[in-house]
Amino acid sequence: MISIRGLKKSYGKLDVLKGIDLDVHSGEKVVVIGPSGSGKSTMLRCINGLEDPDEGTITMNGVEITSRRTNMNKVRERLGMVFQRFNLWPHKTVAENVMLGQMVVGHRTKAEARARALEMLRRVGLEEKADVYPVTLSGGQQQRVGIARALAMNPDAILFDEPTSALDPELVGEVLSVMKKLAEEGMTMIVVTHEIGFAREVADHVIFMDGGVIVEQGTPEEVLEHPKEERTRGFLKRVL
Ligand code: ATP
Ligand code: MG
Repeated sequence: MISIRGLKKSYGKLDVLKGIDLDVHSGEKVVVIGPSGSGKSTMLRCINGLEDPDEGTITMNGVEITSRRTNMNKVRERLGMVFQRFNLWPHKTVAENVMLGQMVVGHRTKAEARARALEMLRRVGLEEKADVYPVTLSGGQQQRVGIARALAMNPDAILFDEPTSALDPELVGEVLSVMKKLAEEGMTMIVVTHEIGFAREVADHVIFMDGGVIVEQGTPEEVLEHPKEERTRGFLKRVL
């Protein structure tokens, strides 16, 4: 479904991605781990077109995202993104936050968007919060609204960039359990996270990135329990 070949990206003299190859199949859950600065966010940003790669290709459902002829708005409609910071609009209610993209990009009517927003809020356990403002929600609840907003666009895949790392520890679990539910329902997911327990439980495939390359990849069992590379072992020792 998503296929990355020879992806390279530099900022000035800094080579951030040095040749990434990755295939994500429909329904697959890929968890990306690796130290700060290894290029994880940059890779996600290239996939959803927030960054232009210097070299290499990314295709999604056979459409080359990296081609200048491709309409990135169409691609982003099919690709949800959940960030560390939830970026909800403070002067819009929870439901309005989930409706906005649907109306602007998805061209749904207000009534359609509201009905779908309520359905998505139910999926993340927040239907009763539809008409309150984000400031009244906990960080975990706000992040679940962020997930509902991504789901409302009916994406083919969702990219998560450290969705729980800005949360107080006691709020991490509720967000991870919503993500687990999505995984069980068959959503295609690429998740950058330091939550090794989540990777162990949910991932089909674990990628360890360091210094702009994929150092090691495989099943959670292979990468997390029996890492072959010294760099992977060192990293896991630090985060576990
Ligand atoms: P973290 O775990 O801290 O989120 P990461 O693996 O997501 O790290 P990236 O955010 O992809 O790492 O950044 C990789 C490197 O690229 C870092 O050294 C970062 O400072 C640099 N970088 C990222 N974005 C830019 C930019 N827009 N301009 C210049 N340098 C950048
Ligand atoms: Mg990052």
